[in-house]
Amino acid sequence: QIADDPIANAEKEVRDWAKQKASEINTLKEQAQFRKEFLSNISHEFKTPLFATQGYIETLQDGLIDEDPDIAKNFLEKASRNLDRLSYLIQDLDEISKLESGIIALTIEKFDVVKLIKECMEDLEGKASGSNIQIKYKGKANHPIFVKADRKRIQQVLINLIDNSIKYGRRNGHTSISIYPLFEQILIEVTDDGLGIEEKNLPRVFERFYRTDKSRSREIGGSGLGLAIVKHIIEAHEQNVNVRSTEGIGTTFGFTLVPAKNV
Ligand code: ADP
Repeated sequence: QIADDPIANAEKEVRDWAKQKASEINTLKEQAQFRKEFLSNISHEFKTPLFATQGYIETLQDGLIDEDPDIAKNFLEKASRNLDRLSYLIQDLDEISKLESGIIALTIEKFDVVKLIKECMEDLEGKASGSNIQIKYKGKANHPIFVKADRKRIQQVLINLIDNSIKYGRRNGHTSISIYPLFEQILIEVTDDGLGIEEKNLPRVFERFYRTDKSRSREIGGSGLGLAIVKHIIEAHEQNVNVRSTEGIGTTFGFTLVPAKNV
């Protein structure tokens, strides 16, 4: 009957239009709120290392610790570490804004992911041995596994995950990297026996700027963007990333890739 009633029809149209507009307004409000939080996060993340650096330099300029060259050296090192943190933060921000705006197109190629894993392990060997952490590849050493993906970006994923396993690992600990062929996918896992992540924090670790136990993570250093970048890259490949962890026991991050026929 309503279909024949022009007034009822018009009213329905108006109601639908209002609903549509209300939903658009909600989306705009959410975006505005998101931008506000994002900016306040960024400025907070920048202020901390910037003010710390200023503090160390001012104390050195005041000449208060001139008599003790060890303290002066230590202050310089701390200032330098904080500047490094700023520089990583800028690089990561740049990366994430490019990934989010979709400016970066993936360059998909066939490559041996085992070789890439070994290169990443080598790149981080110095850092790992600094904490006496052993990194092991669990698969067959000379058995190449070819995948179709953006090599540079997957390198970044591996570096971020292995780097985290060292940062949040324990002294004399182990990081292992495993590959499992699944049905039409390859699963790569990076496992550590470090701090672990509380269950309630697990769903949030991929969020930008999210860092568990602030003081501890801050001391360890990082931008809080590494895992957000990992998630973006893997999702851009239409693949999955996941995490499981037990506090005090260790953490495993896993991601999938598309296999390519061996060449
Ligand atoms: P960050 O720069 O802080 O390392 P990430 O995005 O890489 O940023 O990680 C977000 C947070 O997740 C970290 O601050 C840390 O609290 C937690 N985290 C990441 N990897 C691990 C891990 N392997 N073990 C324990 N906690 C981790």
